[in-house]
Amino acid sequence: GLADLPAVETDSLLQLIALCNADPRAEKIDVGVGVFRDGEGRTPILKVIKDAEQSLLDTQESKSYLGMAGDKRYTELLRPIALGRHAGDDRIAGLQTPGGCGALRLGFELIATANPQARVIVGTPTWPNHPPIIRAVGLQIVEYPYYDRDGCRIRFEAMVDALNDARPGDVVLLHGCCHNPTGADLSDDQWDEVTRIIVDRRLLPFVDIAYQGFARGLEQDARGFHGLLDVCDELIAAHSCDKNFSVYRDRVGSLYVKTGSTEATARAMAHVSQRAREMWSMPPDHGAAAVRIVLDTPELKTRWPDELAAMRDRINAVRKRIAAADPRLAYIGDQFGMFSMLPVTKDQVLALREKHAIYMADSGRFNVVGLSDEQVDRFITAVVETLDA
Ligand code: PMP
Repeated sequence: GLADLPAVETDSLLQLIALCNADPRAEKIDVGVGVFRDGEGRTPILKVIKDAEQSLLDTQESKSYLGMAGDKRYTELLRPIALGRHAGDDRIAGLQTPGGCGALRLGFELIATANPQARVIVGTPTWPNHPPIIRAVGLQIVEYPYYDRDGCRIRFEAMVDALNDARPGDVVLLHGCCHNPTGADLSDDQWDEVTRIIVDRRLLPFVDIAYQGFARGLEQDARGFHGLLDVCDELIAAHSCDKNFSVYRDRVGSLYVKTGSTEATARAMAHVSQRAREMWSMPPDHGAAAVRIVLDTPELKTRWPDELAAMRDRINAVRKRIAAADPRLAYIGDQFGMFSMLPVTKDQVLALREKHAIYMADSGRFNVVGLSDEQVDRFITAVVETLDA
């Protein structure tokens, strides 16, 4: 019966949050958190979203069902941003999903339906939710070491070897930008080489792009993704607006599927709709409706990139401050997005927690904007002291 269920191992990040919450020290620093925070340590609602929500409240006349694809105008308006120069390609179809997470699940469901023998080539470490999602649809995972944490660099040779060892039809999971948890993004040249191998070996790229605009800019952050679209007949992408519109809990994502023809894409999307129907029927409306209003209102549409740039600038400014403090931390200035990993042992992570009230994951992953402006210097001092010890 239900009472016989085994215990589930609790997520270590959730445990970390609980530990941090229980710490009475006022000066405690939470860099385990996975959301953007401003200089004062808050995760504010964007002004453009507040305005869009007000407009939604004033003008929405019905909450009747929209259908499996969710808000179609939202995905249509998002195409030029997510797909760039490929927005007009009618071999690419998209639909709204409950967050990037829902898009990942749905994309892997489609692969499992089309080719259950496909293996998914995954660089480690990766976002801890990737492997369980892939396993949940019954696909096999092949791991390769993506990042050398102690050397603070991508293990590109290992990545190339893994892709060269893959079989035609295998899936390559790629982080579009702002690699989570390492912050180590492929260079333009590395993207180009990966793209060549994917084409040569007839692999299926699956791009997870959850932080578009958090690294260098909306267009630049999708450079690798769009480069793949230039040359790949088949591609799957999971996109999220949860970070770049700061609507995390409202669950705003989309899935894109490209095949070699409009007809094949339509057939694939019929399967996608079927899978979506089995899982959640339709995605939640509110967040996507707010994003749609932002993109559909010229005045809001021009203000959004400014608010996004302010988040990006803060991330990169904190990175520069940390990088400038010590040569051993210089690599942090060359990485992107909210996360980087410190080359620290588990004992050092514990020492940071106990001696300095700094809470980060056991892996050494920390959120650079988990630090408020006034916490940055104390964080740097504590980290340097710990690395010296
Ligand atoms: N992919 C990666 C790499 C992520 O870090 C996240 C969020 N933490 C997601 C996908 C999914 O984001 P969401 O479901 O909140 O849109």
